Amino acid sequence: MTLIALAVACLMLVTLGYSALCAASPFGTCRTCNGFGFATTTDRKGRPKRGKSCRRCKATGKRIRAGRWLFNRAQRIYREGTN
Ligand SMILES: [Zn+2]
Repeated sequence: MTLIALAVACLMLVTLGYSALCAASPFGTCRTCNGFGFATTTDRKGRPKRGKSCRRCKATGKRIRAGRWLFNRAQRIYREGTN
């Protein structure tokens, strides 16, 4: 097996794994707030406190995966095309 074939095989495996991940759990944890849905700040006594709601995930703590977003979009285009 050549090196290129091996690289392609690895790439396909990663893509397949990612597709499976997108199908199994379409939502990932928000990287901005780590899934809390809000920023954490500390009050004057140093205790953790709920801060502003996260704007990136609209305070849900979840973000749709790019792969799933593409899948949803492709599916919508396909449906509109067949109707
Ligand atoms: Zn967030």
